[in-house]
Amino acid sequence: MSEAQAIGKLLASAQQTLECAGIANAAQEARWLLAFALEMKHHELVSRSEQPVTAEQLTRVLSVLQRREAREPLQYILGSQEFCGLDFSVTPAVLIPRPETELLVQETLREGGFEEGAVLVDVGTGSGCVAVTLATILGGMRIFALDCSQDALKVARKNAERHGVIDKIIWLEGDLLSPLMEYSVAGAVDAIISNPPYIAESEWADLQPEVRAYEPRSALLAGPKGIEFHERLIHDSKEFLAPGGLLVMEVGQGQLPVVQRMAVEAGGYTGLQTVTDEAGIERVLIARRADGEPRHG
Ligand code: GLN
Repeated sequence: MSEAQAIGKLLASAQQTLECAGIANAAQEARWLLAFALEMKHHELVSRSEQPVTAEQLTRVLSVLQRREAREPLQYILGSQEFCGLDFSVTPAVLIPRPETELLVQETLREGGFEEGAVLVDVGTGSGCVAVTLATILGGMRIFALDCSQDALKVARKNAERHGVIDKIIWLEGDLLSPLMEYSVAGAVDAIISNPPYIAESEWADLQPEVRAYEPRSALLAGPKGIEFHERLIHDSKEFLAPGGLLVMEVGQGQLPVVQRMAVEAGGYTGLQTVTDEAGIERVLIARRADGEPRHG
């Protein structure tokens, strides 16, 4: 091979490689990937642009570029994603937290008015972004984080450890709310929060390659309609929510009216509210368990 490449030249060719692969933010991503592979700060890529890279460094850079060219999400390569100002470790066992999901946390806090000892449940915790963020903000709560994937729970626990809240969260593996059966919390839960899978089967082929080929299918795909998990949550939550308790769910684009109608038709809920995200998409449905309703399973 010819003489060693300088960081500046490598950065330019990395950007070009990513552009050719159809990556939208090629310049920015090239900086992220090089800084990661070279273990440098972003500004060092500039200040040390004339510095030649070693053969070992070059191998590392080419390896991360190749992964990104194959459309592996940037976050899995870098191993992290920021959410509500906290850094979360992510692996292909968990969905990469999305910015719009921050609304779930904000709305839960805004609506909550939780008192000491309140019970909060994050259904489908994935990376743990929702439960861990809430645990870092709220003290004296009983927070449950549920997921059907043991591998996801491992990642979530690691994130809780990282943010010093591992002992504030009870981790349970199982299908939707079913792991709660063993705890005496029927009729006593103050908030059920969930970003459930909501991609309809027919939409699967249209997803970005990053999502379709790398993110966990079980975290994304619902059923033929896309709202199957919302339907179950609306039904199953009634047994667990205290009167006045909150159900806060994220929904996919265009799903809100039908999910809202399901909640109305299911009965037992009041104070329905919708929240729109920054892109103008109706993203969160909030409902409260009606007072004095007889509970049923
Ligand atoms: N609660 C996690 C998140 O919002 C995971 C959601 C999921 O896997 N569907 O990112």
